[in-house]
Amino acid sequence: MNDCKLVCHSCAKKFTLDKLIGRCHCGGPLLVQYDLEQVKQTLTKESLTTRPTSMWRYLELLPIEKPQSIVTIGEGWTPLLRLPSLEKGLSVGEIMIKREEQNPTGSFKSRGFSAAVSLLNEHGIRKVAVPSNGNAASALAAYAGRAGMDCYVFVPQDCPPLIVEECIQYGAQTFLVDGYIHDAAAIIEDGKDEQGWFNVGTMKEPGRVEGKKTMGLEIAEQLNWQWPDVIVYPTGGGSGIIGLWKAFHELRSLGLVKGDFPRLISVQEEGCQPIVDAIELNAKNVVFPEGTVLSKPTGMRVPNPPGGDLVVSILRETNGTAVAVSSDEIKAASKTLGAHGISASPEGAATWAGFERVYEKGLIEANDRVVLFNTSHALKYVSCKVDLTIPTVKNYEEWIHLRKQ
Ligand SMILES: *Cc1c(COP(=O)(O)O)cnc(C)c1O
Repeated sequence: MNDCKLVCHSCAKKFTLDKLIGRCHCGGPLLVQYDLEQVKQTLTKESLTTRPTSMWRYLELLPIEKPQSIVTIGEGWTPLLRLPSLEKGLSVGEIMIKREEQNPTGSFKSRGFSAAVSLLNEHGIRKVAVPSNGNAASALAAYAGRAGMDCYVFVPQDCPPLIVEECIQYGAQTFLVDGYIHDAAAIIEDGKDEQGWFNVGTMKEPGRVEGKKTMGLEIAEQLNWQWPDVIVYPTGGGSGIIGLWKAFHELRSLGLVKGDFPRLISVQEEGCQPIVDAIELNAKNVVFPEGTVLSKPTGMRVPNPPGGDLVVSILRETNGTAVAVSSDEIKAASKTLGAHGISASPEGAATWAGFERVYEKGLIEANDRVVLFNTSHALKYVSCKVDLTIPTVKNYEEWIHLRKQ
């Protein structure tokens, strides 16, 4: 169906897609390149009006040959919701939130793994493994389960407990690692030959970026084929930003959206902020931070982001930037979004905190339309015990009594 190739972003060397590799011999990242003239024939604004309401509506821009290879549980086409009450008192055009927590595994990771597992399914891979801070693990677990693949996930031992439970629920062989996500990645690499598992880690194969790309395609379609001016995105391994940027280029080449690309703003948590450091130092390469990593266990805590160098160049290309926010600011932002009806994970909340930061810096213009990415659900991160400081009552009388105190 699709005539696509893998092309190295650094040296332009081409590979056939069946290689299923994420890096060129030169070390550069490999990205899927489509025959866009061919895509244009069938992927039109008109044709999209009757397509399924999932990310697979953009089938021509996903690297699958046979529709029967597709592994889907209803990912994508999430609401893009305006938050007028958050705009009050600010000099900004519109603030919107992309509700990625509504994906089938409670995070945008569903998209990457629907594409990746479909691609692996097409190529006969039956045993998969992933290093993860949590959401990639539960997403792989769900899609591998659906495809009947053997699944192994490795997450840091401080991973939010409900996400660990979720992996087990989906039937994955689940292991805690005494270390960070790169230590988990090392285990999978070391066991590769002996165990025969396929590593579906960030930038290890071409599917995950392609799945994440559908977030960018959707925003454009939901805004009636226009770009927002600013997108705020919580960055960890980097494939989310790479996917969004790839969507911009493909939509422009297809003639579906015109104008300047949105300014991409990466948010990270203070204590583990390699992307922010590279931007602030005006460096070309992301450097592995020395010493202990202090930030909380979230999807943003990736000290050694596999897509880091490309992310940094993308942020510059789009006139964007990167900002770090504190864990207290993330907590406050989570309350603010919660009070507006949005269940935001720490990463999703960080985008509101990050917006406030760039707003204070004067980087937002009066007419800017801003999209925040709520990449996951608050409920995946709660501790399992009820907070005993929450008032407890037996009946109405006691409640009234309590209120009077
Ligand atoms: C993985 C993850 C991120 C980081 O995304 P990348 O695309 O890896 O940079 C952000 N938020 C959540 C909830 C995640 O699970």
